[in-house]
Amino acid sequence: MTSTPAPLGPVDPTRIQEVLDGRWAHVRRDAREQLGEAKYAPVYGETGAEARERVTRLSRELAATGRVGLGFPREYGGQDDAGGSVTSIEMLAFGDLSLMVKAGVQWGLFGGAVQALGTKRQHDVYLRDIMSFDLPGCFAMTETGHGSDVQQLRTTCTYDPATQTFDLHTPHQAARKDYIGNAAKDGRMAVVFAQLITQGAGHGVHAFLVPIRDADGSPAAGVTIGDDGPKAGLNGVDNGRLSFDHVRVPRDMLLDRYGQVAEDGTYTSSIENETRRFFTMLGTLVRGRVSVGGSAGSATKLALEIAVRYGDTRRQFAAPGGDREIVINDYLVHQRKLLPALAKTYALHFAQEELVSTMHDVQGVEDVDEAAQRELESRAAGLKAANTWHATQTIQLAREACGGAGYLAENRLPALKADTDVFTTFEGDNTVLLQLVAKGLLTGYRDAFGSLDGWGRAQFVADQVRETVLERTAARGLIQRLVDAVPGRGEEVPFTDRGWQLAAFEDREKHTLDGAIKRLRKGAARKDITPFDIFNDVQDHVLATAQAHIDRIVLEGFVAGIERATDPAAKALLGKVCDLYALTTIEAHKGWFLEHGRLTPTRAKALTGSVNDLLKELRPHLRTLVDAFAIPAAWLNCAIVAEEPGRQEVMAAHDAELQAAGRGAETGTDDATATSLEVAPAQ
Ligand SMILES: Cc1cc2nc3c(=O)[nH]c(=O)nc-3n(C[C@H](O)[C@H](O)[C@H](O)COP(=O)(O)OP(=O)(O)OC[C@H]3O[C@@H](n4cnc5c(N)ncnc54)[C@H](O)[C@@H]3O)c2cc1C
Repeated sequence: MTSTPAPLGPVDPTRIQEVLDGRWAHVRRDAREQLGEAKYAPVYGETGAEARERVTRLSRELAATGRVGLGFPREYGGQDDAGGSVTSIEMLAFGDLSLMVKAGVQWGLFGGAVQALGTKRQHDVYLRDIMSFDLPGCFAMTETGHGSDVQQLRTTCTYDPATQTFDLHTPHQAARKDYIGNAAKDGRMAVVFAQLITQGAGHGVHAFLVPIRDADGSPAAGVTIGDDGPKAGLNGVDNGRLSFDHVRVPRDMLLDRYGQVAEDGTYTSSIENETRRFFTMLGTLVRGRVSVGGSAGSATKLALEIAVRYGDTRRQFAAPGGDREIVINDYLVHQRKLLPALAKTYALHFAQEELVSTMHDVQGVEDVDEAAQRELESRAAGLKAANTWHATQTIQLAREACGGAGYLAENRLPALKADTDVFTTFEGDNTVLLQLVAKGLLTGYRDAFGSLDGWGRAQFVADQVRETVLERTAARGLIQRLVDAVPGRGEEVPFTDRGWQLAAFEDREKHTLDGAIKRLRKGAARKDITPFDIFNDVQDHVLATAQAHIDRIVLEGFVAGIERATDPAAKALLGKVCDLYALTTIEAHKGWFLEHGRLTPTRAKALTGSVNDLLKELRPHLRTLVDAFAIPAAWLNCAIVAEEPGRQEVMAAHDAELQAAGRGAETGTDDATATSLEVAPAQ
């Protein structure tokens, strides 16, 4: 299928918006209409204490709207709508990101852990108070010494049958809980992750509900609470430290859905293997990771809307003989910045939407399918990494695209940068998440990797011929049809052939994966190298595989999303944006495609020309593409955008002045000095 050759006509942004809004359009609409007000937008220039106070107050107000209950069970006043709850967090991220994170901690992490890891007895006691924010809480997993490798946490929780309590203890400084949201000021209870020990045996990390403050706000007996202090951003969130000095925790405070301790201390679990049990527990908490990816997407959209709207009115330099200075969005290199970032934002939006839908369906049943759950976790990890890295890059790019104005707090971008920076780290460090994706891709080899000791190594080496099969996204049938319909693989296939694009992405993933497996197998065949070194020597290759995989599922998500468009003009525009995402991704990996003979040098050069042609075609639609995000004006909270009409008048008056003075654009090259003086950057 080639994209429409006819030039793009005008497109109604609301027709694109309806495609973007997708399955949870009603949640997005509700958020825009009911929450899209100034009080949920960020405030600049507050002290840390003021920011924390305001965000706590807003959290209470948000709870009172009843919207935070979407993901909780109906019997406690919720709506059993996991997809809706993630979408509502994503919408909240258009406003103050501290509020979004605080909400994520309270209702996603803390509430989510009680819901997923606890049982009815605990739900009955706590869920209503958690939803109403009467019980502010924390999710205390990370320790100063262990953030990524949480299976190695050092906090212990040892059962004592004589008192029928656990003894929760922080054995040393590195075992204290660190960076914990809601800990420094508001949290009254925490879900604390610790090594469970009973009858002298360890059973791995489990979660315990632990009161950390009394009703009057002072630390509970044996609990030491510290404050992480000023951070790079998210100043409205009270991150802190928790240490436990032999704190007594009643037996029924173990969140015991996956592991139970009887009165006499006997341990039982339906999952025998400790590692499997731990990862099953973590897997139930995937919602937090999915929310961070979606929220990063919202921040990216905001930044792009600001940059695009600024670029449509900002003028710098005049063309020789031209009668006005040029609008910066008309410069090719400016389009080179904004449009590929916008195209990737669209691509990630559709992939994220598909992920949320899958999460909702996979986790919404009584007996969760294990393979589907594993696939969900891998996709959540990959898209969290892709979305948050894209946010960090794009917000910086948008900041620069707004020049000096982009650096002012009143123009929102500095706070967006500071607040989203840590998204690449929390809910899983991105590099570590890519390794998780890669391990999932080594399907069929995973078990051998799991224990690459003598036996695993032998089996891995013996396993010579196994076809690499790519796991398909939801639009499996459509994608396969498009790939099968490619008219050959040669020079003659147009770059805009969707099947060719999909095949190129698949090819990169498959080849990179095959190469990584070959290298791992080679390492496994050697006797003089440890399992650690086998993996470590190939780590970069393995991560490149994960990256190629994510790029492919994102493209497939986009292709599937376009299918939902019913308006032909909207569909044609989305098709072009998809072309741009596909071609700029291939362009970014030109080196690989050339090295592996997938592109000839001539075709690689032609690719750049095709991208530039697309930029020209899409330029008139820049504004439409950001308007389609339908971000409420009150949430944009950006002076250069709010002043837009005024700014246009100022610019027009400025132009008129220049013309009256016989200077400016019509002065052409002769007056280049005057023009360049006018535009000389402020120091
Ligand atoms: C603002 C903020 C809020 C937070 N909120 C919470 C919360 O509410 N509750 C909670 O439990 N935690 C919270 N965290 C903790 C967060 O989840 C951890 O910081 C995160 O998981 C990373 O762990 P780490 O800091 O120990 O980094 P590390 O794991 O030490 O990572 C440091 C670097 O080492 C690299 N690295 C690590 N392992 C490998 C490897 N195997 N191969 C290659 N490279 C590797 C990483 O890529 C990274 O670049 C929060 C953190 C912050 C900053």
